[in-house]
Amino acid sequence: MDPAIKVVYSFPPKGRKYTSCVVEVSSEVRSVLRREPRIYICYSACRFADYVRTLQCFRCLGFGHTSTGCGSSALCGHCSERHDTRECTNKNREPVCANCKRWLPHDDIHHAATDGRKCPIIRRRIMEKIKTINYGCES
Ligand SMILES: [Zn+2]
Ligand SMILES: [Zn+2]
Ligand SMILES: [Zn+2]
Repeated sequence: MDPAIKVVYSFPPKGRKYTSCVVEVSSEVRSVLRREPRIYICYSACRFADYVRTLQCFRCLGFGHTSTGCGSSALCGHCSERHDTRECTNKNREPVCANCKRWLPHDDIHHAATDGRKCPIIRRRIMEKIKTINYGCES
């Protein structure tokens, strides 16, 4: 039988009081966690939040693969021109999101292509991912 809580990734502690880890839980455990603002594990109070990742390539800024498996040419995550983000010479200018320029040209495109808080394309991908996760029965 699978354990109810499986640690997927543990962030290395940086000499701080708190440490974070990503866990995979069953839908039953998740619904319990959603009701409790704090849970106690080994006498430590833990808080949790749903954590959804979206895989983004730092080379072409596309989604669903990483730079290792990338077959496209490099696009800059800052200015959207055809060079590696690290070699950008336009860092003093306002950022232009290459993905919004390609796919949503009428939206506000002045943000970095990797900025998940500002880019509507990344936000949409995260929302779609949340919808596709089957959380089991939930009222
Ligand atoms: Zn790529
Ligand atoms: Zn650039
Ligand atoms: Zn964007």
